[in-house]
Amino acid sequence: MEFPGLLFVISGPSGVGKGTLCKHLVNCEDNLHYSVSMTTRKPRAGEVNGKDYIFVDRESFLDKASAHEFVEWAEVYDNYYGTPWSELEAALVKGKDIILEIDTQGALQVKQKYPAAISVFILPPCEEELKARIKGRGSESPETMEKRLANLENELKVICEYDYAIINDSLEDALDKLKAIYTAEKCRTWRTLS
Ligand code: ADP
Ligand code: 5GP
Repeated sequence: MEFPGLLFVISGPSGVGKGTLCKHLVNCEDNLHYSVSMTTRKPRAGEVNGKDYIFVDRESFLDKASAHEFVEWAEVYDNYYGTPWSELEAALVKGKDIILEIDTQGALQVKQKYPAAISVFILPPCEEELKARIKGRGSESPETMEKRLANLENELKVICEYDYAIINDSLEDALDKLKAIYTAEKCRTWRTLS
């Protein structure tokens, strides 16, 4: 079963620029909407509850997971993150395109449950630049930054499961590539004719 809306899944190491790219893409494309995940992570300065994430405590997250309210969920860097299913499904049924920015564990769960999902892995130009970007964002303590960098190798192991890969060197070029993928997927014959 395929929904009229397109489900886009974006993953990549912490600090590679997923959030930046997704925000730009959503701003450029009228029918593309961002799915707001639920997390037990504490909000960063400037993050808004309900917009960046739905921030909850561990107990209520696990209650929702037991009640199968997530299409996928995973423990990432010592916190839980999950994609609520009901609103997402309602949007896809209506023909809205949705973008999920989730980790590799979650992306594989989505692909298994919904193979029509289009997955894109974002790569850094090199490890040094990735470190510089996480540091530049200023959101992580030295300890959480180490944890995020240490996960890089693990995440790269599953890159071949993704449909597309983009190196985010120049932001402009990477965004052009992401837009090209979105446009091409929208032009699939059955989508164009239905
Ligand atoms: P992620 O969502 O993957 O963790 P962010 O989107 O928060 O990463 O980006 C991390 C930092 O890198 C931010 O400060 C962002 O402005 C910066 N950034 C993103 N893309 C680029 C790029 N192509 N070149 C330089 N800096 C970038
Ligand atoms: P951050 O704490 O930097 O916002 O996100 C940490 C990691 O969690 C990133 O790799 C991000 O893609 C991932 N993530 C965010 N939301 C979800 C979600 O709903 N599910 C899963 N599995 N991962 C998520």
